[in-house]
Amino acid sequence: MTTLTATRHDWTLEEVQALFALPLNDLLFKAHSIHRENFDPNAVQVSTLLSIKTGACPEDCKYCPQSGHYNTGLEKERLMEVQQVLEQAKAAKASGASRFCMGAAWKSPSKKDLPYVVEMVKGVKSLGLETCMTLGMLDKEQASELAQAGLDYYNHNLDTSPEFYDKIITTRTYQDRLDTLSHVRDAGMKICSGGILGMGEKESDRAKLLIQLSTLAPHPESVPINMLVKVEGTPLDQVEALDPIEFVRTIAVARIMMPASHVRLSAGREEMSDEMQAMTFFAGANSIFYGERLLTTANPQAEKDKMLFTRLGIHPERREVSVDETVHEAALQEALDGQNSQFYDASASNNGTRERKPCGLVV
Ligand code: SF4
Repeated sequence: MTTLTATRHDWTLEEVQALFALPLNDLLFKAHSIHRENFDPNAVQVSTLLSIKTGACPEDCKYCPQSGHYNTGLEKERLMEVQQVLEQAKAAKASGASRFCMGAAWKSPSKKDLPYVVEMVKGVKSLGLETCMTLGMLDKEQASELAQAGLDYYNHNLDTSPEFYDKIITTRTYQDRLDTLSHVRDAGMKICSGGILGMGEKESDRAKLLIQLSTLAPHPESVPINMLVKVEGTPLDQVEALDPIEFVRTIAVARIMMPASHVRLSAGREEMSDEMQAMTFFAGANSIFYGERLLTTANPQAEKDKMLFTRLGIHPERREVSVDETVHEAALQEALDGQNSQFYDASASNNGTRERKPCGLVV
C-alpha cells in the first residue's frame, strides 16, 4: 500500500492544537482517510502481554500499582521461569496473538536477570511470534544484547509531556527515557512508545506528548495510548476522569501525526464501551492487547474481544511468518530442553557471589 500522506517530524504545537480543535466529524474523517492510506481499515494487530516479574519496582510512577512506593495490595511475583513464559507464549499464539510482549517491573534489567530474559526472547521468537519487552531503562550494551537475541520491539513509554512529567515520575528523567529509546533504535530494534491519558494533564500536554513521539525519526512503529486505570493506593486514584471523546480525539490526532505507526489501545480498554472502542478503531487505532491480563490490570476477556471483532467485521492482522510450524516446534522443544538449569529464584539476593541453582534451591 502506498503512503500518500507525508511523514513529518516537525509538527508545531499550534498545528497539533488546531487538529484537537477540529469538529469531531472533521477530525475523524481526516484521521480515517489517512488510516486507509496506510492500513487495511478492518485489520487490528493483536498482542498478548505477560508480566514476567511483578511489583516491588523502585520507580515512583504515580499511576502504577507495581511501584514499591505505594501500597496497593498487589501480590509481588519473582521473575518467571523461562519454560513458563514459553508455555504462555504458545497459548497466546494459539488464541490468535501475533506478538508476545513480556513486561518486568524493574528500573532496568540487572546483570543477573538479563541472561534469562535473553533466553525468553529466543524461545518466544522460535515459536514464530514477534517479540516485545518492557524492562525499564536500557543502556547501549543491554539494548544490543537483546537485539542480538532477536527482540523485535522494545516498549518504553514517554508517558506524558515533558512539562507535566515531574508531576508523575521523579525517579527517572524524561531524558533518561529518550536515551533508552535512542539505544533501542541504534541497536536496530523497533520502538513501542506512547503514553497515558487521564492523569490530570491538560490537552496541551497530550499534544506535546504526541509531538515528542512524532519527533522521533523514524516514528515509533507502535504507539500505545493508554487510559489511566485508577488503582486504589496510587496517588492518582482520585484524579478526575478524562472525557472519552477527548481520548478518541487523541487517537485520531496520533493517527494523523504518525500515519504509518500502529496506534494501540492499551490499558483502560476494559472500561471502554464497545461503541467507544469502535470509534477509536475508526479514528485510527489498529492494535490491541488481547487476553486476560495486561500487566497487573484486568483486560477484557478474549471471548468478549472476539465478539466485538465479529460485530465490527474486524479481523486480526496476521504477520508474515517465514518459518514453518515444524521448525517452530523443534525450536521450542530445544529451547525448553536447554533451559532447565536456568531456573532460579529472582527474589534472592543479587550480591553477585551466589551460585545460580535451579528454582527453589537458591540459598
Ligand atoms: S510503570 Fe514501570 S517503571 Fe513505573 S513503577 Fe510501574 S513497573 Fe515501575
